[in-house]
Amino acid sequence: MKQELIRAEKLNVVSQLAASVAHEIRNPMTSVRGFMQLMQKENLTTEQQMYIRISIEELDRAQEIINQYLALAKPQTEQYEVVDLSSVIQQSIDVMRSYAILNSIHITQQVESSLIIHGLKLEIQQVLINVIKNAVEAIKSEGEIWITAAKQSADFISIQIKDNGVGMTDAQIKKLGSPYYSTKEKGTGLGLTVCHQIVKQMGGQIVIESELNKGTCFTIHLPTVK
Ligand code: ADP
Ligand code: MG
Repeated sequence: MKQELIRAEKLNVVSQLAASVAHEIRNPMTSVRGFMQLMQKENLTTEQQMYIRISIEELDRAQEIINQYLALAKPQTEQYEVVDLSSVIQQSIDVMRSYAILNSIHITQQVESSLIIHGLKLEIQQVLINVIKNAVEAIKSEGEIWITAAKQSADFISIQIKDNGVGMTDAQIKKLGSPYYSTKEKGTGLGLTVCHQIVKQMGGQIVIESELNKGTCFTIHLPTVK
C-alpha cells in the first residue's frame, strides 16, 4: 500500500514536470515558426524556400510530439462535463478540412444532431483529429473519407471514420496502439496510443476493421449520458 502511494506521487511529479517543460518549449517554438513564416515572404531561391518549408514542417512535427506526450502525461483528475458530441465532431472535421483539401480528399459526413455524452471535450476532439489525420495520411492523395455518428442503443453512441486508403494487414492491426508503432517516415506512433487511453478512460472502445489496399474503418463507441 505504501509502495503504491510513493509510486503514485512520483508519477504525478513526472507528469507535472513533463507538462511544464512542454509549455515552456512551446512558446519559443511558436516564435521561431513565426519568424520562419516571415522569411518565406522574402525574395528567396527555390532552395532557400525548401529549407524554410522543411524547418516549418519539422517544427510542426516537434509540436505534435509534445502535444501527444502532454496528452499521455496529463493527470486524469479533470471533471467530466456534458458534451455535445455532434458539434465536437463538426469542429474536428472543420480543423482537418484544409489538410484533406490539400491532399485532394473529399469528406462526406452524416452526423446525427444532439448526440450528448459525458466526457472531456478537448480530449474527444484530440481523438477525432488523430483518427481523421491518419485517414488523410492513409489516402495520400485523391480519395474519400466517410464520417458518420449515430446513437447505437440507449447506452452507446458510435462514430465511424472510414477511408479508402492503403489499409492494413492483420499483423499491422495487431500492433496498433503500441507506443511508437508507426509505418510513416515522420510518424510519432503516439496518436493511437493517446486515442486508446482517452476513449478507454471515458468507458468507451475503439474497433478497427481494415483491408490492405482497400481501406480502413475506425469505430469509436462512447457511452451516452443516462
Ligand atoms: P503515426 O500517425 O504517427 O504513424 P499513429 O499512432 O497515429 O501514429 O498510427 C500508427 C500507425 O497505424 C500508422 O503509422 C499507420 O501505419 C497505422 N494506421 C493508423 N490509421 C490508419 C488508417 N486509417 N489506414 C491505414 N493505416 C493506419
Ligand atoms: Mg497519427
